[in-house]
Amino acid sequence: MKCNACWRELEGQAVSTTCGHLLCTEDAKKILSNDGACPICDQVLSKSHMRPVDINPNDDWTNMAMAGVSPQILMKSAYRSVMFYIGQKELEMQYKMNRIVGQCRQKCELMQAKFTEKLEEVHTAYQKMAKRCQLMEQEIENLMRDKQELQEKFAEKSRQKRKLDEMYDQLRSEYESAKRSAIQPANNYFPRAQPNLFSGMPNIMDSNDPLRQGNLIL
Ligand SMILES: [Zn+2]
Ligand SMILES: [Zn+2]
Repeated sequence: MKCNACWRELEGQAVSTTCGHLLCTEDAKKILSNDGACPICDQVLSKSHMRPVDINPNDDWTNMAMAGVSPQILMKSAYRSVMFYIGQKELEMQYKMNRIVGQCRQKCELMQAKFTEKLEEVHTAYQKMAKRCQLMEQEIENLMRDKQELQEKFAEKSRQKRKLDEMYDQLRSEYESAKRSAIQPANNYFPRAQPNLFSGMPNIMDSNDPLRQGNLIL
């Protein structure tokens, strides 16, 4: 049997109440000195509602306690005692169940707190990633814009190069025709072979011109 207030195993003297509960002598004294309310059913208790019980009676008590009592009263008392015992076992079971439920609830709450914490961590990481993705998208957009600008510049430079090539070709042909017209009259005046004044000179308009090599420097 256990005390219904502190749930420790009872030995020796205990106190039973009229409301059907069992207390250790220390808790019975505490209840009487406080508000007098039963810890299980809240019924107000006084000394007259409490009766001392010997949890482990000796053989003398067992042999003589019911001596002289009629079997009807004895059976009634035995029935009440057995019902009290069953009530105590039910109460103890309920107490154990409540304790297990409490422990489970505590574990659940702990797990839920951990789960919430993890969820928050994941959410924060997700937000960080989303922000990074957004920044990268912005960067890609900027790069695409730069690329387009460069392509436009390249097209413009190519156009300018083509124009310069045309101008160069035109100037070159003008130069060639001017050179021919400058040399031919001299040959007429002096029939002897004269050295061509331009033949020894490297042609500066030829291969050293970077524009002629097709290299476009942007
Ligand atoms: Zn107790
Ligand atoms: Zn009670």
